[in-house]
Amino acid sequence: MQQVSDASRSPGYDPAPTNSRALIVDSIRSAGTVSRVELTQITGLTAPSVTTLVRRLIDDGLVDEAGRGSSTGGKPRTMLRIRAAARYVVGVHLSAGSLTYVLVDYAGAVVARWRRAGPGDDSDPEQVVERIAAETTELIDRSGIDSSLVLGLGFVCPGPLIRNRGVTSAPPSMTHWVGFPIHRRLEERLGLPALLENDATAAAAGTRLTTSHDVSVMAALFMSEGIGSGLRLNGNVYQGAHGNAGEVGHICVQIGGPQCWCGSTGCLEAIAGPATVVAKARAAGLDLGSPRRTGVAAFAAIARLALTGDSRADAILRDSASWLALGAQTITNMYDVQLLVLTGPAFAVAGTIYLPIIQERILSSAFGRAVNTEVVLDERGHDAAAIGAALMMLRSERAISA
Ligand SMILES: [Zn+2]
Repeated sequence: MQQVSDASRSPGYDPAPTNSRALIVDSIRSAGTVSRVELTQITGLTAPSVTTLVRRLIDDGLVDEAGRGSSTGGKPRTMLRIRAAARYVVGVHLSAGSLTYVLVDYAGAVVARWRRAGPGDDSDPEQVVERIAAETTELIDRSGIDSSLVLGLGFVCPGPLIRNRGVTSAPPSMTHWVGFPIHRRLEERLGLPALLENDATAAAAGTRLTTSHDVSVMAALFMSEGIGSGLRLNGNVYQGAHGNAGEVGHICVQIGGPQCWCGSTGCLEAIAGPATVVAKARAAGLDLGSPRRTGVAAFAAIARLALTGDSRADAILRDSASWLALGAQTITNMYDVQLLVLTGPAFAVAGTIYLPIIQERILSSAFGRAVNTEVVLDERGHDAAAIGAALMMLRSERAISA
């Protein structure tokens, strides 16, 4: 089958660029500022190759010289940095309940963001393509940049999917997206390269690590309308053969548990995901505002009730957190991560309730205690998937050659 041969060619992870020019750009972007000598050490390219490639990048307006670095005995080295305004990429995160857009500059910084209501449960994919194309154009226009500088678009949605082929199955709210080649339609509509990725994988790429979190192995536990995870190794995200690595929401945590939309039973997402939390809250008679409010918006209403003292809302979320902690512990035990980041729109609104319960679970085990696995909330949880989508597009060979 075509899909199998496609999968067999996949490296399973988002590799560092292989093209020398792309490798130099990626290395300068990762470092912030860096000298030519350091670039030879980082990339393994010869000094004459680095000099030639850097000269071309400066001539093309993609890299700037950034003054002199500190001397290490000899003449101070000229530092290089990415020219941030040279190019841009767009990141889009689609779920039934929300559409998040970000515009990221060539250095990888977010320069504009826009969060919109999602297309809802019964959306027509063609209409959503039209809407995303129009809103992407509006985002670029409003930011005041020259649209010819936009290299491409990274697009993410819930899995499972076949990377860059389409969505293969979907939660009940998005079943009509199955088989629809959304990134191809966006490419046609916008005239830009587009990349399709799983939302949780992209969130791992989009999580900003501070210098105190400069770790080689980190995982992101992602909660939006579903639950997923992503793994980042030395700056590269692990995607799996098809782009579905880390589907922690669909591991069975209860034999004989409730039916899940994926076809299995007892899945973590079916027991403790946002849709179940919302259903439990409604059954308990909690006022979530409009009865039409669904997804993360309804979940956020429960979080607000819990954070303002409603004990029933608090108990429902704490119960969900105790199940999520099993998923978190599975990830940390499987991959021996130094850092676990809780990210995504649902953690952005309820993370303070989930964090201590997940921390306690991980540190309850000898494996977590021995290495003191750190668990933190992502300050950009709402936008991490869209940012990651943009950053993955920025790193891709397609963007470099554009
Ligand atoms: Zn499932």
